[in-house]
Amino acid sequence: MTSSIYSDYPPQLTPEQQKCLVATLTDWSIAHGLAVRPSPALVSDPLGVLATTAPVTLFPSPFPKRCFEEALGIQTAYNELYSGIARDEEWLGKIVEELAEVDDFIAKLWDTHLAVKRECYAQDLSLGLFRSDYMIHIDHATPNSNPELKQVEFNTIASSFGGLSTQVSALHRHVKSTLQGSHANFTRYLFHNPAYRLPPIINQHSFPQNPSISRLAAGLAAAAISYGSPKSSSLELAVLFLVQDPERNVFDQRHLEYQLESEHGIRAYRLPFHRILTDTALAPETRALLYHPPEAPSTAIEITIIYFRAGYAPSEYTHPDAWLARLHLERSAAIKCPSVLTHLAGVKKVQQVLATPGSPHLSRFLRDPAVAQRVQGTFTNIYPLDESEAGLGAQKLALDPETAKGFVLKPQREGGGNNIYRTAITPYLRDKVPKERWKSYILMELINPPSLNNSILRNGKIESGSVIGELGVFGVCLWRNPKGKDGSGEILKNEEAGYLLRTKGRESEEGGVAAGFGSMDSVVLV
Ligand code: ADP
Ligand code: MG
Ligand code: MG
Repeated sequence: MTSSIYSDYPPQLTPEQQKCLVATLTDWSIAHGLAVRPSPALVSDPLGVLATTAPVTLFPSPFPKRCFEEALGIQTAYNELYSGIARDEEWLGKIVEELAEVDDFIAKLWDTHLAVKRECYAQDLSLGLFRSDYMIHIDHATPNSNPELKQVEFNTIASSFGGLSTQVSALHRHVKSTLQGSHANFTRYLFHNPAYRLPPIINQHSFPQNPSISRLAAGLAAAAISYGSPKSSSLELAVLFLVQDPERNVFDQRHLEYQLESEHGIRAYRLPFHRILTDTALAPETRALLYHPPEAPSTAIEITIIYFRAGYAPSEYTHPDAWLARLHLERSAAIKCPSVLTHLAGVKKVQQVLATPGSPHLSRFLRDPAVAQRVQGTFTNIYPLDESEAGLGAQKLALDPETAKGFVLKPQREGGGNNIYRTAITPYLRDKVPKERWKSYILMELINPPSLNNSILRNGKIESGSVIGELGVFGVCLWRNPKGKDGSGEILKNEEAGYLLRTKGRESEEGGVAAGFGSMDSVVLV
């Protein structure tokens, strides 16, 4: 796939066609909860009751079928890999302790784990709702080279958009049928014009269904059932969504909550991070996590799973009791999604260590060499910035603006907006980061995705032009942690759980939908 092949996709629209399409997308989105709370910069919503459409592309974006299938196909291997890392405290601890010397946030997380370990964990099950993110890489130096699937990062905490992404796939299918029904000429151009080089994308197979809502909710349900019977005198068991407050992406989370209730009969409650210590308590001895809803504080609901959609950024831990609150949750008998160890397994330094060519690490966690090789194939070059030989080499690359322009510099952070790109790397490292802290960063080669054309509908306005896509694949993994130093634990459930396509303007470095740069998209397989 090169930039020129799909240059006539999507079609140019007349103002009338565009108006019709925008109305179709907008109304369907609101009717189906493909929505976010409005940006406070645009709309005043003091009561927190308004909704607006999530940014979406007008059309699904072409995506190479082979790469899509490979990304979905290796998700269970990635689940196994990261749950194996979270179960291997010794291996992970070596990496984390190095980082903890210069990164206070990582140090606090590690201390939280160590404190609970000293006391003994009250729960041996862990749940991961993961998301592995990729871009398509094109080697521009080699004409007609095959597109390759390359991993951007692996998320182990608060992997979002599984709720909205099922909906955007359904939206694009709806757009297709609307156009087929009432705008025959337009559709003929889109799908049947013989000069139009997009393959006929009429058949269902090219617009894959996206089961992310049902599979992620099924993962939560499986863990809730594995929790077993109440450990306290509480009469009600429930799942607790730990959330930010305010949260613009609330409907994404609500889709999972409603699915849990309608399909599995499991109730979920929402707890803002800052209310952990006010609204929850631990039962004596069992450490069952008891939730006291503010509207009925004398009621005690026993929590089977704490699903973290918050708690991944240092800015959430500014309150003096914030770390006490995280410790309180980790000590509890609730299943953590994720545990602190699983959270730490997702740091970018782990990805860099795994990606080191010829390293024995992958085969430690993935016993089947063919599977390990497929995973290895998705890695791009990632270097440490420490005092090792590879680290010193990478420092040279980063300190020369000419070579730095092929890289992105990443700290051990989540949630977007933390990376430094290209020529900004050299002055940033030189002037802003003391040398002893360089080892808390990794230097990653930039993936070079093909440019496509698409239009993004954001806040009622259309932005058209050159865009690039980032594919995320969700994974569900439930496992039992090893007891003491014996054994390696056991995986109870391991599944691929649907996908996410985010599309952003070619020139925008960060692709987060919530951060306002990206948009929700779906694939049309080519
Ligand atoms: P975060 O955990 O904050 O989401 P990411 O590693 O996903 O951090 O980086 C944020 C964004 O930066 C990605 O969504 C992607 O758009 C861009 N990005 C990250 N790594 C690369 C890379 N190697 N090549 C090209 N773009 C990248
Ligand atoms: Mg990311
Ligand atoms: Mg991330």
